[in-house]
Amino acid sequence: MSTPPPEADWDNAPGVLEGARELHLTPQTCNLPYWLEHVAGSMLRRLSDGTVTAAAPIEAVRRPGPLHDALVDEFTFRTLAEEKAARALSFLVFHAPDNDCLEFFSTQLVDEARHARAFREHLLAAGVPAEEVVLAIARTAAASGAVVLDPLEEFGLHVLRDKGDFYGGVLVLTILVEGVLAPAAELSERKWRLLDPSAALVERGANMDEIRHLAVGSAVIRQYLIEHPEQRGRLLALMQEGRRLWEKLPMAEVLYRRESLFQEGLAEHAELLGDYEIWPGRRLVDTGIEERMAAAEQWSRETQEARLAYMLLDGAS
Ligand code: FE
Ligand code: FE
Repeated sequence: MSTPPPEADWDNAPGVLEGARELHLTPQTCNLPYWLEHVAGSMLRRLSDGTVTAAAPIEAVRRPGPLHDALVDEFTFRTLAEEKAARALSFLVFHAPDNDCLEFFSTQLVDEARHARAFREHLLAAGVPAEEVVLAIARTAAASGAVVLDPLEEFGLHVLRDKGDFYGGVLVLTILVEGVLAPAAELSERKWRLLDPSAALVERGANMDEIRHLAVGSAVIRQYLIEHPEQRGRLLALMQEGRRLWEKLPMAEVLYRRESLFQEGLAEHAELLGDYEIWPGRRLVDTGIEERMAAAEQWSRETQEARLAYMLLDGAS
């Protein structure tokens, strides 16, 4: 088998913060043969044959307590978000303007369905009994899902399902969904690395996919606007509308509750983290709720801005 390209290689893939902003990938390269060989045949194979593994969550994550609650809160939310993304992608496949886009978005659909499964399955590893997983997801769906994910889904479906707007849909999914989720997932990967290495591995794997989704989605829009510059105003207006919606969503409250639980757990188990740094020069044990939220927000803003500029849509913020 040929050497995998760096973005599909566990040992060489860039982190979200570089990869999601700078990598150049197109639907022409990331087509079905690419995915079958490098994602299914290499990246995923290394997970199933055990060459890429991570340790189970520590006891404090598996038994009732704030760390357990923080993980359940986060992973149920992610399961729901990935599931909604997978469903929305069916419209991108349906409206794909050519074979490359049809193939790429089919692979993205499978990626998102896989992510939903990986996050759901990790809840079991984190000590949620099988019969309670559905209940835990339903609780999150009724709370943070209803106030954040449902309005976002409605907005995306209006563009995709109701208007059949393929490029508008790619833009919404790339900037408003991937552009926010990927940096949040990067924070998660770093937060859980020592407390729940297997959770960090789930995040890492999903992030490698999200980097690809972000890169290809932005390349699709970039190419479209090079060929159809007259569409720029329309897509800019759509982006502004999407951002106005985001500002109204109570995402900060959802994150605050999650980070508060994590903070409580951090205080109880500080000795386990020692000098582990969440980013260079900053020990995780010294960070606070608002500081971690602010970092994720800044990463997300920077990722969105870099990608909008690449798409020739700067000025949307
Ligand atoms: Fe995903
Ligand atoms: Fe994705």
